[in-house]
Amino acid sequence: MRVERLEHKLGIRSSDTATITFEDCRVPAANLLGNPDVNAEQGFAGVMQTFDNTRPLVAAMAVGCARAALELTRELLEEAGVRIDYDRPLLGQSAAAATYLQMESDWEAAYLLTMQAAWMADNRRPNSLEASMAKAKAGRVGNDITLRCVELAGSVGYSEHELLEKWARDSKILDIFEGTQQIQQLIVARRLLGLTSAELK
Ligand SMILES: Cc1cc2nc3c(=O)[nH]c(=O)nc-3n(C[C@H](O)[C@H](O)[C@H](O)COP(=O)(O)OP(=O)(O)OC[C@H]3O[C@@H](n4cnc5c(N)ncnc54)[C@H](O)[C@@H]3O)c2cc1C
Repeated sequence: MRVERLEHKLGIRSSDTATITFEDCRVPAANLLGNPDVNAEQGFAGVMQTFDNTRPLVAAMAVGCARAALELTRELLEEAGVRIDYDRPLLGQSAAAATYLQMESDWEAAYLLTMQAAWMADNRRPNSLEASMAKAKAGRVGNDITLRCVELAGSVGYSEHELLEKWARDSKILDIFEGTQQIQQLIVARRLLGLTSAELK
């Protein structure tokens, strides 16, 4: 087994991503992951089942990343004298406060979908639809919120003095791995319309 190269990435740089080559590589039976009675025919279905558990986790990472960006942005806005008022309509507040409140409502939707998908996984209820909905929403919201927080904080948001620029870079992969935004939307559409993968590509 050879590590061919380490990738240089936009984000999640503390997690190495590498190209690995296996050549005439023997793996002892004791080192096999999962069931030793490997059933190749069930391989794809097994991977899909794993996603029902892991997609809510990646959605949760996106929710957490966006939450961190929101909290820091709120502090920076308050320091700059922007008042965020939950009791007044958006139209009566500054553009920065209105943008912030809209981001929070989007965040809440992603959070609730993620909690639902994770609760269903924990309670062994079929959750493929909910897991994809949560992943699609949280992945997109994570990208939108972290980037808009950079925007709202201006030059402070873009600089490396604060973590906003890092979270904006880190959030992109959360919309990609464990199934991209587009693939989640495809899965949701297939399930809602009752179509197979051959019928809706
Ligand atoms: C940093 C990093 C770490 C990763 N870590 C892991 C890991 O630990 N384990 C693991 O198994 N994988 C990992 N991956 C792989 C990751 O899950 C895939 O890259 C991801 O699912 C996208 O698949 P792909 O690269 O084959 O993209 P492609 O399938 O080539 O897609 C390219 C683009 O086309 C779009 N697209 C594809 N098909 C359709 C369609 N039918 N309709 C509309 N749009 C479509 C996609 O949404 C995407 O935007 C990692 C990837 C990266 C970048």
